Amino acid sequence: MTRAVRHAAEKSLEAPHVPFEEFSVKELDYLVRQLEKAKPAGATVEVSAMEDSHHSPCLQEMQAIVVQSVGPEGQPVETYFMYQYCPACKLAVRVL
Ligand SMILES: [Zn+2]
Repeated sequence: MTRAVRHAAEKSLEAPHVPFEEFSVKELDYLVRQLEKAKPAGATVEVSAMEDSHHSPCLQEMQAIVVQSVGPEGQPVETYFMYQYCPACKLAVRVL
């Protein structure tokens, strides 16, 4: 996973959740669909396993959901939102 993360410049862009506040998500697909609707035109929603990050209450591996725009070769250009999701607890948190 890329470490090159920076904040979106456009203040008008709103993620559907408050940062750093956990909320329950029954299905990861549901959150992905929400983000598909909220993302800027041309951005992608990517889900990947976070091998080095575990949810502290249950120690399960978390998943990262990243909303970003990518360049013509698939390289990340701008990261808009980032979420972490614990499939065991069915909790998600917006981290960016
Ligand atoms: Zn958990």
